Amino acid sequence: MKCPNCNSKSIEELKSKGKKSKELLLKCNECGTIFRDIVNIEKPLDCRVVVSEFEKTHKTFIKVDPDQILQVGGFIDADERPAEITSLENKRGGRIFKSPVKDLETIWASYIDIPARVGISVDFGGRILSQKVEVAPDFEFKIGDVVKMGNIYFRINSLKTLERKMRKGFARASVTKRVYGRPFEEQQRYNYDLSSKVVV
Ligand SMILES: [Zn+2]
Repeated sequence: MKCPNCNSKSIEELKSKGKKSKELLLKCNECGTIFRDIVNIEKPLDCRVVVSEFEKTHKTFIKVDPDQILQVGGFIDADERPAEITSLENKRGGRIFKSPVKDLETIWASYIDIPARVGISVDFGGRILSQKVEVAPDFEFKIGDVVKMGNIYFRINSLKTLERKMRKGFARASVTKRVYGRPFEEQQRYNYDLSSKVVV
């Protein structure tokens, strides 16, 4: 806000009225010009959040400024716990990477104060070994990585995230639902050992 006469930003508020949009009577501290202005007070919106915690999800609401821009991978507080945004849906039902809050229908998020629980499936020629592991939410699974898990070794050949099936690249554990692997014979080298992360 600045003075229409001298452009000074040193303004004193004399009077204000109204709730949703405020009508202000203002006085410039530099030149003394008295003028009126109207400001729109944007109330924080209640935005719907679906938060997941392991296999369970629940709905909650967060209060956010309508113009605030949220993006996948960003962080919010949901029920006073830190959560990472895993997906955004706009009012037209589309999934988007980034959006102002006022265009959003639902925010999907997962708590980051707990480990991410990810399924592991290793295909031994039709016999599938399935396990669950708990790792830090920012742990990255990369296709091509060789993993030790107990006495088996496997190479990751695909990933299923919340939104898609991937055959190349990597994904954070917080958005990974399942890791698919094939047994790997060469047991000398591996990228990481998940043995202690297996949920029993
Ligand atoms: Zn002025």
